[in-house]
Amino acid sequence: MADPTIPSISVQNLTKTYGAFRALDNISFTVEKGEIVGFLGPNGAGKSTTMRILSGLMMADSGSASICGVPVASDAIGAQKHIGYMPENNPLPLDMRVDEYLAFRAELKGLRGSNIKRRVAEVMDLCDLARKAKRKMIGNLSKGFRQRVGIADAILAEPDVVIMDEPTIGLDPHQIVAIRNLITSLKGKMTVIISSHILAEIEMCTDRVIIINHGQIVASGEIPYLRRRFLPRTVYSFSVQVEIADPKEYLENRGIPCESVSMLRREKDGYFLYELSTLSEESLGEKIINVVREGNFGLREVRREDPSLEDIFLAATKRVWDETI
Ligand code: ADP
Repeated sequence: MADPTIPSISVQNLTKTYGAFRALDNISFTVEKGEIVGFLGPNGAGKSTTMRILSGLMMADSGSASICGVPVASDAIGAQKHIGYMPENNPLPLDMRVDEYLAFRAELKGLRGSNIKRRVAEVMDLCDLARKAKRKMIGNLSKGFRQRVGIADAILAEPDVVIMDEPTIGLDPHQIVAIRNLITSLKGKMTVIISSHILAEIEMCTDRVIIINHGQIVASGEIPYLRRRFLPRTVYSFSVQVEIADPKEYLENRGIPCESVSMLRREKDGYFLYELSTLSEESLGEKIINVVREGNFGLREVRREDPSLEDIFLAATKRVWDETI
């Protein structure tokens, strides 16, 4: 068992070049025990490179990485004992059955005797492989089920740290939900770092995100903090039956600090939909309700429109999302 006071992952000033190209440029971060952290960035940002270095499969040019206090560069095997790694495009033997493959992997990971059978059964249950896929050839499984086999493999030896590189890539929305639930179920049991460029995924199953772009960390923190840092505005929308003549003046005169207020559209049922943007950190929902009600505009609803992680990502990396796909 790892010492809970030692970070599960510690990365200090890591740099990696491929020829003249600098894929990682002096990155540092730590992940504490039990955290589920999203490692987020566009394609080519350096996510896989970082994960390969953490997993002891590749050497950095400079800097250091340690897993549960074990330095990866000088003791890769020691560090790997703490890790379950699911690489991007996880290569799996297509001609093995799921239970056979997991038993084989369990043995490679040092499990012995009845522990192999017990643990294979446990991970197959956890990854929902037991019901449908247990005796199936891996080659006959859907991509979603193959990803589950990859996750089952990563958690098989109950590692302290699970490293997953793009576990939801190429999956359909149903499969993504299943994998997300699976990742969420690891919370509190293992430390997890999961890379993705699917922002909504990361937002739903992680405690904190690290955003990397061009080999550098551009933001790190819990999502509410990143929202405040990169997108300090709060946006509310409200719909009313009666048009408001000068909505900004009306609301400001009644104590609601507005940066802008605009009518977005007239809904099919005749309601007017407004959007209010404010730099105030105060929660204004209730005030807006009261002020608009007082004016007898026929208020239907007020909603706070929280920016998505994608909005934060764009603000942090200042890149057009479409360019990165
Ligand atoms: P990500 O996982 O964020 O998509 P990678 O870590 O795979 O990014 O790659 C970071 C950059 O390094 C990319 O520009 C990629 O083309 C380059 N790169 C990755 N692996 C190699 C390699 N083996 N040789 C040369 N360049 C590489």
